[in-house]
Amino acid sequence: MADPVYLTFFGGLGEIGRNCAALEAHGRIVLLDCGQLFPDDMPGVDAVLPDFSWLLDRSDRLEACVITHAHEDHIGGLPYLLRALGEQGVTMPVYGAPFTLGMVRGKLSAAGIPVPDLLALEDHVRMPIGPFECEFLPVTHSTPSGLMTVFSTPQGRILHSSDFKLDPTPVDGRVTDLNRVRELAADGGIRLLLADSTNAGSAGSSSSESSIGPVMRQIFEDNEERRIIVGAFSSHVHRIQQVADAAAATGRTLVVMGPSMVRNMTLARELGLLRVSDGMLATDQDVEDLEPARTCIVCTGSQGEPRAALNLMGQGRHRYVAVGDLDTVVFSSHPIPGNEAAVARLHNALARRGVRLVHSGQLGVHTTGHGKADELLALHEAADPDLFIPVHGEYAHLVAHEDLARGRGMGVDQVLRCTDGDRVKLTSAGVAHVDRVPDVYVMVDESGRRVSEDLLQERRAVSGEGFVFVRVVVDKRGGCLDGRPIVESRGWMEPDERDAWHVEVADEVAQALAGVVADGECSEAELARLTRRATGRLVSRRTGRRPTLVPVVEVR
Ligand SMILES: [Zn+2]
Ligand SMILES: [Zn+2]
Repeated sequence: MADPVYLTFFGGLGEIGRNCAALEAHGRIVLLDCGQLFPDDMPGVDAVLPDFSWLLDRSDRLEACVITHAHEDHIGGLPYLLRALGEQGVTMPVYGAPFTLGMVRGKLSAAGIPVPDLLALEDHVRMPIGPFECEFLPVTHSTPSGLMTVFSTPQGRILHSSDFKLDPTPVDGRVTDLNRVRELAADGGIRLLLADSTNAGSAGSSSSESSIGPVMRQIFEDNEERRIIVGAFSSHVHRIQQVADAAAATGRTLVVMGPSMVRNMTLARELGLLRVSDGMLATDQDVEDLEPARTCIVCTGSQGEPRAALNLMGQGRHRYVAVGDLDTVVFSSHPIPGNEAAVARLHNALARRGVRLVHSGQLGVHTTGHGKADELLALHEAADPDLFIPVHGEYAHLVAHEDLARGRGMGVDQVLRCTDGDRVKLTSAGVAHVDRVPDVYVMVDESGRRVSEDLLQERRAVSGEGFVFVRVVVDKRGGCLDGRPIVESRGWMEPDERDAWHVEVADEVAQALAGVVADGECSEAELARLTRRATGRLVSRRTGRRPTLVPVVEVR
């Protein structure tokens, strides 16, 4: 009987982000993607990672990591995992398309992590990786060079779709290779399909990326007297290509702005993925000297990110660009769920400066990179898998994808619902849950230091209600307080009322402690408890607030 194959899902099943899974056969492990999740409402948290502890306990069996494409939810966890492996003296080769590897290299270098072997994958290449024979097929997505992976395993073929859409007319002509999937299905079959669920809940098909070009061109023509600023994702090379084409066709100079935009465009040009002539490019420092009506700026920040170029323009704090009523700003993206409010604030800030706004609510200046229901069904038809696990999606997306598969005729025992932390086993009998691995949100700050749930709670409490600090010194021998309690606070009451409140807190605490101290109580813990109680009483009774209380007692 053939050896079983295990699949372990560390993230991405239940949220959009931190995609990371392990495939395992004969005790050898291949990692598939290593992403991060962008934190939402987590003060001081820079990234949310998969919990790598299960992997780190088995690092001697880790053979390689395959990265499907260059989006952060697929590569953002690599620096952290590679650093942790490095501390164990383990290195892990990373496979990916050249563009993906260029992004990975840049990321690791920026983080000061030694770059491991980066092994380039070309479309249609076949090679053994770890215990699997792998084949890589092109997929169309909102960043170049996405790869679908066919893993040949002791339990048949596992097909992982990567993030994909079916675009009959992609900007680079590189279509998702469903033909090869059909061939494989007809010749030996696909045992297990793992497929992108992001847009499983959306009916129909996504529109082609190349539909953006003519819309962009029209906007450029309609705004010929004005400067045009386009906000887009820096990894969306084909979108930027279409902006650049519209700029070239209307005689504008293209200014690429924002460090990630500059870095990614440089990489894409080096690899021949972006065609922009040197002559039409300028840098942000040239902006002041350029005629506005002959300028197109392409920059980051279309999601309302606070430190990105567009937001700085909206706040009038951009170093080189002061926007006004001769500017048209095109938002060439949809707000990602969770960013709507920030994007709306940015629209308002720009509109207040007189800017003319163009966004996807008005014109077709954006299309998704993830296939909708009809496209997913086309993949299911082509692969005709024995078994299916929906991946890459929030919980509702996974369920919607499951419904699509069931609607196509797959039975209850052919579709397995998995979430983060699930470990499943593929055998001749089918696929089934066997185990759970740690799946907590590993939160890290900018320096890479871990942020615990407790620390996050503290930060939330302090950010919402502020804190009150009370320091009491007790003269043990005299049986009294040594001076008045010292009180400080932040974020609790208005700054100009603060001093008066501090006096009241000091009085309340002094009064509460006087008796017990005179009676000989000298346990610092007990006195701190009483200090907290007295402070809390006054604070909640008089102000109705619940700031964090920080009592410090010293007995001398
Ligand atoms: Zn993606
Ligand atoms: Zn993704």
